[in-house]
Amino acid sequence: MTIDTPIPGPVRDLVGYNGNPPKVTWPGNARIAISLVVNYEEGSELAIGDGDPRTERGYHEAPYYPWPAGERDLASESMYEYGSRAGFWRLMDIFDELEVKSTFYACAVALERNRDAAREIRARGHDVISHGYRWEDVTLLTREEERDHIAKAIASIEETTGERPVGWYCRYGPSVNTRELVVEEGGFTYDCDAYNDDLPYWTTVHGKKHLVIPYDIVANDGGFAAGLVGPPREFEEHLRYDFDRLYKEGETYPKMMSIGLHMRLVGHPARAQALANFIAYAKSFPGVWFARRGEIAQHWYENHA
Ligand SMILES: [Zn+2]
Repeated sequence: MTIDTPIPGPVRDLVGYNGNPPKVTWPGNARIAISLVVNYEEGSELAIGDGDPRTERGYHEAPYYPWPAGERDLASESMYEYGSRAGFWRLMDIFDELEVKSTFYACAVALERNRDAAREIRARGHDVISHGYRWEDVTLLTREEERDHIAKAIASIEETTGERPVGWYCRYGPSVNTRELVVEEGGFTYDCDAYNDDLPYWTTVHGKKHLVIPYDIVANDGGFAAGLVGPPREFEEHLRYDFDRLYKEGETYPKMMSIGLHMRLVGHPARAQALANFIAYAKSFPGVWFARRGEIAQHWYENHA
């Protein structure tokens, strides 16, 4: 079947490396690159106090139930606040204890509302990419509105962290315009708006090569909020199984493992302990590279351009 009428957005690629991935030589000949990703969203989600018609009521601890239109949901607000107040610091301490660096997917407005956290992320050696101006659905924006939000996000994150972000990742899904806008802006070296591979890859935008570092929605603590993951040990087990498989494959073809984290979800003590257990497990093997996404991008530019 062919579709003759061009539709907006990237052309789908269902083949990719076609079973022949590049033989990657990660730094130190590592068999696996593990990218810990902390989504910093708390404070930028939909809120009545920010002029939104409703409070964000998804992706936290409470199951969905109806709520009167236009009314603040203080419990939901509070469940989000746990992330930036408590979960953030717990995760930062775990990363320090286990000597690993992570990447923060940061919503600009969220960092504006916790400036000490923004400074601390950089001070402790983690990197920051833009997760949007707010934690928002960009498919609801016009192309020009989205361009404006990208510009505002860059300026804000540069101000709160002291460095402009060079990577981009939308909330959940990009619009058909996002990748073009990110490339047109000129200062981004990669985006993470894809879930379709275990390795970075090049794509073409406006005739130019553009790097995509795919993210993972499966090895992701979002499963706790969606009710897909129960006790913390299930999360730990999932991460171990991912690691075991990729580490075995990495004997010949090293891959990348992305782990998606949210401060209001995995930042709770029992779940944070499960994450710490996994990190310690992975670190007990030789040839494991805990990499920031900026380092993975740099490696790809230098070795796979
Ligand atoms: Zn996110």
